Amino acid sequence: MNRIDPAPYAVDASNSLGRMVHEEAPSGRSEFQRDRDRIIHSTAFRRLEYKTQVFVNHEGDLFRTRLTHSIEVAQIGRSIARRLRLNEDLVEAVALAHDVGHTPFGHAGQDALNSCMQGHGGFEHNLQSLRVVDFLEERYAAFDGLNLSFETREGILKHCALNKASQLGMVGARFINNQRPSLEAQVTNLADEIAYNNHDVDDGLRSGLITLEQLSEVKLFATHLEAVNAAYPRLDGRRAVHETVRSMIGTLVTDLIRQTELNIHAESVQSLDDIRAAPTLAAFSSELLEQQRELKTFLHKNLYRHYRVMRMSTKARRIINELFMAFMSDSRLLPPQFQRQAEIDQARAVADYVAGMTDRYAIKEYRRLFAVEEE
Ligand code: MG
Repeated sequence: MNRIDPAPYAVDASNSLGRMVHEEAPSGRSEFQRDRDRIIHSTAFRRLEYKTQVFVNHEGDLFRTRLTHSIEVAQIGRSIARRLRLNEDLVEAVALAHDVGHTPFGHAGQDALNSCMQGHGGFEHNLQSLRVVDFLEERYAAFDGLNLSFETREGILKHCALNKASQLGMVGARFINNQRPSLEAQVTNLADEIAYNNHDVDDGLRSGLITLEQLSEVKLFATHLEAVNAAYPRLDGRRAVHETVRSMIGTLVTDLIRQTELNIHAESVQSLDDIRAAPTLAAFSSELLEQQRELKTFLHKNLYRHYRVMRMSTKARRIINELFMAFMSDSRLLPPQFQRQAEIDQARAVADYVAGMTDRYAIKEYRRLFAVEEE
């Protein structure tokens, strides 16, 4: 196999801006491969298996969890990175870590915890992902967290309010200086979008919460479904859906690569510094951007606000709220390591504990605290 030279603006692992605690360079793997390996071995990563985005974990075995979602983001991101000659290892590391700060119960959980934290600095899953890899993982002798390299941490912190950015040192600086992250980080961000739009279509159909008929109003889906039906007129329903989703992903990936190449060319980008100074370069064409928007609007209206999803979201909010209030009213209910942290900042300790819970752990903890018949 021919070795393909990386693009001149790709991140080079040997020029990494380094880790918060200095470590010798790894042997036999690159800095970003080491980051990826640390992420895979972390407890926060394993918990992703029991955290969900739209469907709660116990609703079915076939739905995406945050773990399978993160693996899909890594797969899509790596394909894009390879074609753009970017640093695939960095994309993989960012993709696998991007959701480790998520609360249980998807967006309903995040919104509930953020409301609880008003007046205590708020809660934002993106910042929490960084907090997990920087501080919360307790595995290594020499440091808290995973001590990841700057470039991986930069990719994890997709967005950040200015008042928070000023407290984050080097990784917050780009928000203040109005600079962009590496193209690897930009690509991973869009790979995330491609992954969830498409798997939510797939999971939505499988759950029966949305129908093929409804989805035929959405141009992106309808065009691809028609093409599949024309090529394979007798294909059964599930396979037709899979072929449609597969071809939507393919189209979005190809479009993203093409448009990003055009943008790189238009901005005469030659180096990583140019990437940071230029506007965001990873992008879809305006046509596919519009089609994706239509799909997103459809999913918001018909799936994320479906009454069965809403019922679960309401329950999720109640669980998060009541757990938060119970631990705030008496920190002695917290496990010992969080009690120690609570002496410094009780609300943040409670948020860290609650955010780290899986869906089923949160439900169990709720029962343990509020059901009289439980231990
Ligand atoms: Mg994601």
